Formats: sequence, structure tokens, C-alpha cells
Amino acid sequence: MDHRTILLIAAHPDDLEFRSAGSAAVWAKEGRRVEYCLCTSGEKGFNGNGARGLLIEQRWAIREAEQRAAAGTLGVHAVHFLRHPDGELVNSPALRRDIVRVMRRVKPDLVVTGDPSMDAYDSFYGYHSDHRAAAQAAFDALYPAVGNEHFFPELLGEGLEPHRPREAFFSHPAKADVWVDIAPVFDLKMRALACHRSQISEADMAGLIPRMRDWGKKLGESGGLACAESYRRLEVPE
Ligand SMILES: [Zn+2]
Repeated sequence: MDHRTILLIAAHPDDLEFRSAGSAAVWAKEGRRVEYCLCTSGEKGFNGNGARGLLIEQRWAIREAEQRAAAGTLGVHAVHFLRHPDGELVNSPALRRDIVRVMRRVKPDLVVTGDPSMDAYDSFYGYHSDHRAAAQAAFDALYPAVGNEHFFPELLGEGLEPHRPREAFFSHPAKADVWVDIAPVFDLKMRALACHRSQISEADMAGLIPRMRDWGKKLGESGGLACAESYRRLEVPE
């Protein structure tokens, strides 16, 4: 893979740590520029854990700080927060415009996001409506909006010219055709996950680590790897 700049897009702080943090760490170690884009700042992810009464700005601040810490652990160079409403994310023109804006600023060769088809709804977590909306909006931003000057012409006024990423990887696909060996960075991925303290306690981490190891093993099986994150790849058309 010769991509120099990689942008990973997800709905909530912590989504990328679960799905793609190992890949992000590998790519950063290889000297590629890696950036994150989060569609929401996860302000509703506090149910029953003592945050009732906190202002939305305070909840944003907690989750964005955790996300920045996790990204820093992995060597991710920048994090972009779009602050669309958590739990109410919609694949709207406004969301697609905000994603296109980040893509045109970052100019990635490769974009990594969720599987827009999400036909493998094997968990309520994975099939969360925000995850579906983020993956579909990222897919629609990739083609044709980001490379076409007539989409969101106001962005030209911000100095943001059309840009075409060459390739996209969709994580958690029903059928993978790309595997990233994350065995060398598995501990780093766990350290990044542990940065999301408002979501995952130290006690939770003890139980989560073996489950994440099993998940990495399961994803690696079809690619002949002991521990992997897997994707389905598509070339982005002209
Ligand atoms: Zn999520």
C-alpha cells in the first residue's frame, strides 16, 4: 500500500478504537499521515454513569479529550469533530457537506469508514443508527461529492478544491478482502481503548481485552493472520 494520507471516519468517539485503532497505529508507524473525523462528539454516551446535569458542552469536552488522548496514543496526527447530534445522526446534505469539507482539507489517498450496507446486523452496537448514517454519509461523500466542484459550491469559497481519494476501506464487512496485521500493536490498541474512561472502566477493560483478542483472531482467520482488523476495499471512481 503506497497511500501517504489516510482519513478514518466514524460516528462516535471510541468507534475507531474498537474497529480500526490497530490499523491506524500500524499506518502511523509506517510514516503515513493518519487523521480521524468524528461525526458526533458522543454527548449521549453517559447513561447512568453520573453525568446527569452536565451541560452538552461539558459532555463534548469529556469525550473529545478522551478521543484526542486515544488518537495521540496511536500516533494519529489530527482529530476533526463535526459535532452533529449524537443519537440523531442523519445522512443529510449537511453531514455530507461537513465530511466533504474535512476530506478536501485533509486530502486523503485512502478513506476508512464503516460498511454502508451493514447487512451483518449481528449486534445492536454495530447496527446503531448513527453507525449506519455515518457509513452511508461517508460513502456518499466519497462519490461523487468530494471530487465534484458543483457539490457544495460554498466550499470553493473556503478555498477547498475538489479532491478524489483513490481508495476506500469499509470496516466490519460481511466479506473482507483486506487484512491489517495488528498483532504488533494490539497492546497499543488496548491502551487507546482505555483512554475512553467515561465509557470503559478499568474493571471493564479487564474483561474487554480477551474479547478484543478473540475478535482480532476471528477477523484474521480468513486472511491467515493471528490478529487482524479487516476491510472490504473499493476504488473511488473518477
Ligand atoms: Zn458508536
